[in-house]
Amino acid sequence: MSWTLSVGSAKLDQRKDSCYIMISELPKVRGRYTVNESLSNYVWFKVGGPADVIFKPADLDDLVFFLKHTSPELDIFTLGLGSNVLIRDGGMNGVVIRLGRGFTECRIENDMIITGAGALDRNVALTAADAGLAGLEFLASIPGTIGGALKMNAGCYDGEVKDVLVWAKALDMQGNLKTYSVEELKYTYRHCGLDEPVIFVEACFKAKERLPSTVIHDKINDFLARREASQPIRSKTGGSTFKNPEGVKAWELVDKVGGRGLKIGDAQFSEKHCNFLINTNNATAADIEALGELVRSKVLQECGVDLHWEIMRIGKPAQ
Ligand SMILES: Cc1cc2nc3c(=O)[nH]c(=O)nc-3n(C[C@H](O)[C@H](O)[C@H](O)COP(=O)(O)OP(=O)(O)OC[C@H]3O[C@@H](n4cnc5c(N)ncnc54)[C@H](O)[C@@H]3O)c2cc1C
Repeated sequence: MSWTLSVGSAKLDQRKDSCYIMISELPKVRGRYTVNESLSNYVWFKVGGPADVIFKPADLDDLVFFLKHTSPELDIFTLGLGSNVLIRDGGMNGVVIRLGRGFTECRIENDMIITGAGALDRNVALTAADAGLAGLEFLASIPGTIGGALKMNAGCYDGEVKDVLVWAKALDMQGNLKTYSVEELKYTYRHCGLDEPVIFVEACFKAKERLPSTVIHDKINDFLARREASQPIRSKTGGSTFKNPEGVKAWELVDKVGGRGLKIGDAQFSEKHCNFLINTNNATAADIEALGELVRSKVLQECGVDLHWEIMRIGKPAQ
C-alpha cells in the first residue's frame, strides 16, 4: 500500500518497515512525496517493485531546495516516462524524482525551442512544427520526456538529440544549476558522457530551417505511421532492448538465434520487431530480464557478438 504525505503533518514521522529513509529527515518541500508506491505505474513495461519515496517537485526552486537539504548519502534516481527502463521486482531504495507540471513549459524564441525537461518529446516536436521550425520531427515518435532524451541522446529516422541541442541546464546532486553546451555533454550513440550524475531541468534546441507548418506536420505523421507499422508501440515494452553493434542490427542477431516470439512466462520477444521485449500480460521484471539474458547468451555463443542492453535495468530483485 502506498500513501502520500501532506508535508508538515504528523504523518511525516511514520516509518514504513520496507523503507530505509526516515521520512522526517527529508526536507519539507512544496511538492509531493509518495511512500512505497509501485513503480510499475510509472514505466512502460508496467512491472517493477515500489520506491521507498517518489518525489514530484513543484518547480525548479523546490527541487533545488530538496537537493540542498538532503543527505549526500541518499540514493536518488530521476525517472522520466519510464520508456527505457526495466525496474526490478524488489523496487528501488531511496528517492525517485519525477518531474511534473512545473517542468513542462515549452516556448519559442526566434529559431530556438526552449523546453522544460519534463515535457513530452512529442509535444516539443509539435510545438516546433506549429511555429514552422523544422529539424525536431524525429522527437515526435519517441515516447519519453526531454529529460530522458537528453540522458539517452534519443534519436531515430533522420536525427538525434545531439544534432539539434544547443544547451541543457542541469542540477548536480547538491542542487547547483549549470548550463552545459552540447559539446560538454559528450554524446555518443544513445549515451551522454557526463561524468557526474545530474538532473536535467531545461533544454534549448535549434531548428535546422524554417518550413511551412504543414510540411513539417506531414513529416511527423509519416514518422508516426512508419513506427506504428514496424514496432509494437501499443505493447508494454521498453523500446529497443539491445544497442546495435557496429555494422549489424541487433534484431537480425536476435532473429538468427530464434529469439523472435520466444517467451519466458508472460515476457516475450516481439513477433513484430524482435529487438523489442514485451510484457504480454502479467510478466515480472525477472521474466523480462531472464529472457533478455537468455537471448544475449545465445547470440554470444552462436554469433560471437556480445550484445549490450540499451534498456536500463535498475533496482533490486524480489526477495
Ligand atoms: C515503443 C518505444 C519506442 C522507442 N523508440 C525509441 C527510438 O526510436 N529512439 C530512441 O532513442 N529511444 C526510443 N525508445 C526509448 C526511450 O523512449 C528513449 O530512450 C527516451 O528518451 C527515454 O525517455 P524517458 O523520459 O522515458 O526516460 P526514462 O526511460 O524514464 O529514463 C531513461 C534514462 O534517462 C534518465 N532521465 C530521465 N529523465 C531525466 C532527467 N530529467 N535528468 C536526468 N536523467 C533523466 C533516467 O535516469 C534513465 O537513466 C523507445 C521506447 C519505446 C517504449
